[in-house]
Amino acid sequence: MYNIHRASKRLKDFDSSIFQDIFRKQQTLTNPIDLSIGLPEGSTPQYIKDAGIRAIQENHTTYTSANGISQLRKAITEKLLHNNKVSVSEEDVTIVPGLTTGLLLTYLAILDPGDEVMIMDPSYPSYHYLVPLAEATLKRVGTLPNFQLNFPAIESNISQKTRIIIINSPNNPTGAIYPKEDLITLAKTAAKHDILIISDEMYESFVYEKEHFSIGSIYPNTLTMNGFSKAYAMTGWRLGYIAGPTEIIKAINQLQQYAVFSSSSIAQYAALEALKQPTQSRESYIKKRSLVINHLSEAGYDIQGSTGAYYTFFKAPHGQTDIEFVNKAADHNLLLLPGCAFSEEEAYVRLSYGGTIDDVQKGLDIITEITKQAK
Ligand code: PLP
Repeated sequence: MYNIHRASKRLKDFDSSIFQDIFRKQQTLTNPIDLSIGLPEGSTPQYIKDAGIRAIQENHTTYTSANGISQLRKAITEKLLHNNKVSVSEEDVTIVPGLTTGLLLTYLAILDPGDEVMIMDPSYPSYHYLVPLAEATLKRVGTLPNFQLNFPAIESNISQKTRIIIINSPNNPTGAIYPKEDLITLAKTAAKHDILIISDEMYESFVYEKEHFSIGSIYPNTLTMNGFSKAYAMTGWRLGYIAGPTEIIKAINQLQQYAVFSSSSIAQYAALEALKQPTQSRESYIKKRSLVINHLSEAGYDIQGSTGAYYTFFKAPHGQTDIEFVNKAADHNLLLLPGCAFSEEEAYVRLSYGGTIDDVQKGLDIITEITKQAK
């Protein structure tokens, strides 16, 4: 019978039942150690909160143009030039209400049915979930076991229809960083086949050893995406930006006019202030990262990636699946995420060390304990 409450067929690939089961289980815990969520440490810095409050008091509380306020776009062009050597004009930047929405807008604005989108596996879940909404075809290229770009696999998955390759370095969920030489090789590959690169640089400020390198500095057919969620602990403000070729930004804005109208004016004025100061200190992340790597290595885990962002993606021990291990951790009051959220592989688990060092230490102790028990 006709069901007036039915979800659209479009949502058939949005099956989140596994996660709902896990979240249901997690909700039964009291004061769990939460190493599952991707939040950075601490709350939004005071000077940014003050700027948000000031924006309200000064009545910056109305719609802005669809692509955002000009002062913020100008500040972003300066940041991109100075920090990333990416040279774009103010018109080549658009402000979006978070990168997740920004990605959807991009797909819908430029993909036609049958176009192919290549993603690296594992990767941020929205990259693959949103592809069918644009009626495009997903191509996954594995990065296991070291979570680096696999050029033979990339080449062999490129076809006439490949429109976009998405990369994310530093990476969620693996913490891997792609070396500059590999990004140069990727740029050459993309140029050879006329492919647009989307470079999600959300974790740019969580690079601990070398300098961050932006592929947009050497390959003009790049959409450089970034935002305020992680670098400035502003996940709830919902603000990001996309910079790249004029025609593509124009197409995104055309859609944005009707799908978003404008990003939050308050968040935009706060972000303008945010950009005036350096991002959070890396010290505490460096400490937590060493703690995680040393502890897990001693417990017998083979740690790959984990050079940037604040994630470690490790294989569940003794042939357990990711769900089994995550459920066992939950039984011990520890929250982790199963790898299947990010990957076709079902053997990995993501640990986030975005939280306090105390919680990270407690979580690691629980992992050691359940690893011993599983033997
Ligand atoms: N890109 C990556 C790689 C992420 O890990 C996340 C959030 O975890 C996002 C984008 C989402 O960004 P936003 O908060 O701007 O939607």
